[in-house]
Amino acid sequence: MQINASLAIIPKDQLCICGSDKFFSDCCMKKDHIYEAMTLPDTGRQVIYDQTEIIMAVKILNGFIESRIDSINSELPQVEAIRKLKRLYEKLDNALKPIEKVTSCKQGCNHCCFLPILSSQLENELIKNYMSEHYSTDKLAEFEYKINQNKDTLSQLIHINGRFMDENYKLYSTANIPCSFLDSDSNCSIYNVRPFICRKYLVFNNPTVCENTLNKTDQYYSTYLTKVKDSIIKLNKLTYGENFQYKHILSWFLEN
Ligand code: SF4
Ligand SMILES: [Zn+2]
Repeated sequence: MQINASLAIIPKDQLCICGSDKFFSDCCMKKDHIYEAMTLPDTGRQVIYDQTEIIMAVKILNGFIESRIDSINSELPQVEAIRKLKRLYEKLDNALKPIEKVTSCKQGCNHCCFLPILSSQLENELIKNYMSEHYSTDKLAEFEYKINQNKDTLSQLIHINGRFMDENYKLYSTANIPCSFLDSDSNCSIYNVRPFICRKYLVFNNPTVCENTLNKTDQYYSTYLTKVKDSIIKLNKLTYGENFQYKHILSWFLEN
């Protein structure tokens, strides 16, 4: 959802929005940044964020996309595409940081991990590499077991080739299937390499709204996110061809 924003003036004696617990005048005011305020449609609540930080990070992100992804027109070896994807994620995360400070999404809150999560072939290869580098054979077998535990339910909701069927969104959302990468402390066990869809899902509502996965939420959106998604699609096409796969994250790991 694109929510309109306007320039915000932060009073000197207000606590700084960076979370330092200092007054604004003793903290970020010195940086001379521009701040913006968004009014959330459902509650009328206002959130203020550092727009200068976003502008600077998006400039770097766009520069990377233009020089390192848009400019490529030949096939890309998978190892090179993964390297570019990792750098793209880094730059995306920097652009999202100022917004993350003002959303309700916090570590340990995992409601969105019960939604159908889609990932592309390249994103999945990065996850697989990470898992084999960071987890023991026993732990990998545990993941596999967890994923295949939901196999029957998943196979009713996901097409045989792993494509998620939109008409099943409601059924999926009420089936209470946790992402198998969610650990017992409600943390993501592949956080550093989680797919794009998990990175960009930032919600302004109270987490109680997210508890019901069918509820409509006020999610962050900005046009640079579309640019990142297009870049991920391009990297996939350059590596695997036009028919690269884009499917439910768990279906990549399901046994036949
Ligand atoms: S990959 Fe991580 S963040 Fe994404 S749904 Fe799974 S546990 Fe949640
Ligand atoms: Zn500050």
